[in-house]
Amino acid sequence: MKLAASGDVVETDYLVVGAGAAGMAFTDALLMHSDATVTLVDRRHAPGGHWLDAYPFVRLHQPSAFYGVDSVPLGNDAIERSGLNVGFHEMAGPDELRAYYDRVMQQHFLPTGRVRFLPCTDYAGTEGGSHRIVSRLTGSAREVRVRRKLVDTTYMEGAIPATSKPSFEVAPGVRFVPAGGVAGIEDGAQRYCVIGAGKTALDTCVWLLGQGVPPDNIHWIKPREAWWLNRRYHQPHDMLPDFYAGGGLQMQAMARASSIDDMFARLEADGFFLRVDPAVPATMLHGAIVSEAEVEQLRRIRDVVRLGRVRRIERDRIVLDEGEVPTDEDTVHVHCAAQGLRHPPLRPVFEADRVTVQPTAWGFYSFQIELLGVVEALVGSDDEKNRLCPPIAYWDRPADYLSAYLALLAGERARAAYPAVAAWAKGSRLNPLGGLGKYREDARVLATKEVFKQVASVAVANAGRMVAVAG
Ligand SMILES: Cc1cc2nc3c(=O)[nH]c(=O)nc-3n(C[C@H](O)[C@H](O)[C@H](O)COP(=O)(O)OP(=O)(O)OC[C@H]3O[C@@H](n4cnc5c(N)ncnc54)[C@H](O)[C@@H]3O)c2cc1C
Repeated sequence: MKLAASGDVVETDYLVVGAGAAGMAFTDALLMHSDATVTLVDRRHAPGGHWLDAYPFVRLHQPSAFYGVDSVPLGNDAIERSGLNVGFHEMAGPDELRAYYDRVMQQHFLPTGRVRFLPCTDYAGTEGGSHRIVSRLTGSAREVRVRRKLVDTTYMEGAIPATSKPSFEVAPGVRFVPAGGVAGIEDGAQRYCVIGAGKTALDTCVWLLGQGVPPDNIHWIKPREAWWLNRRYHQPHDMLPDFYAGGGLQMQAMARASSIDDMFARLEADGFFLRVDPAVPATMLHGAIVSEAEVEQLRRIRDVVRLGRVRRIERDRIVLDEGEVPTDEDTVHVHCAAQGLRHPPLRPVFEADRVTVQPTAWGFYSFQIELLGVVEALVGSDDEKNRLCPPIAYWDRPADYLSAYLALLAGERARAAYPAVAAWAKGSRLNPLGGLGKYREDARVLATKEVFKQVASVAVANAGRMVAVAG
């Protein structure tokens, strides 16, 4: 493969690698707050990132109201009328998300004349100072001249079961499918063995139960017990006062707790954090939101294997880190144990010639990434941008929640010095608390404000101490 002839050079202000939720939100911010041109490349055939390959029964775990790109609403703010989320705001599934991102690209981005989208295209790094992209369809390479920055949204790219091999061996003849594969099973199964402790496994178990699979026919291999966030505290619009009240509960727990475990125990007692099995210490926290009704369903599954991670599946047994359990050919093994997000070393988000998208605080994904785009567009120097948005590692353990929450508070304080950025954050539909002003006279809001006034500084100091002790 050679570099394309000079007539085939792509020139652009920003080269955004990845047209998933992150690349789309960042681009939206550049379009809304600058006059830059953007070239988006993705190895997939359409925008939407991992949603293009997601299992069919996945849904956002958060309301659609806070997801997507700021300038184009997602969903209709409908309230769920049936199922395990009755009374909560709608959460888009993969078909809706794919259609949404396609609409954003076709009807909003491309008509600006400032965006070029190159699907089925690999970003292949730099060569002699210029960027190279390679078409997956023709194999031809092109040079991209970037006037401002490369935006890398793939630095922490997560793996999903549909597109990644399991980290354990599976012997020939074992019935084994990725999460979504259960929806395509044709010849029935005596048992389902769900492997994984995260959101994909949770969705798979809930879905199987919802299709009438008896709970005793499900084995759940769970290397870790997880903390989940309660959906009732993560709702928009007229339920925002409860969202804010959840903030008050967190502040109180942070102020009063003697340790991180004590803090989670307090927040569990408040119903803010949930655990499927309250008898098992939870050592995992990935920040997903679930309903209490879903947790009730999951508690019906009694055959939970806690012997660490799977090492290999043979035809008659599953070998784990700490033991083995029998299996057989009537069991379908469901892979819900992809590696998830990567944890590479942190690097500054903003550099002279690149933006490396990383999380900067506890909170909703689309808001965080669009905020990075707004900061890139509206704030002067990279030093100042980095001061406003220092990166943090993705949360994985309970202690990470506290560090991320402290980063959230620090970020809000720092941004207050930038009225344009603060005003955007306040008005953005992606920012859940942006709309709180409408409910300022609500009794729950007034009571929570009082809590913040009384305990916020003690909470921040105590949280800092607990994080330091946890190391
Ligand atoms: C099942 C599931 C449910 C989730 N639910 C929620 C939710 O409800 N709310 C929430 O906030 N978050 C949720 N998340 C977290 C999720 O990671 C984000 O919402 C988001 O969709 C991730 O977007 P992304 O752009 O960072 O990554 P991706 O969607 O992975 O997009 C990255 C893109 O980069 C492309 N790419 C990578 N390398 C290259 C290269 N070299 N050249 C060209 N292209 C490349 C990939 O093809 C991909 O399309 C969920 C995650 C999963 C797996």
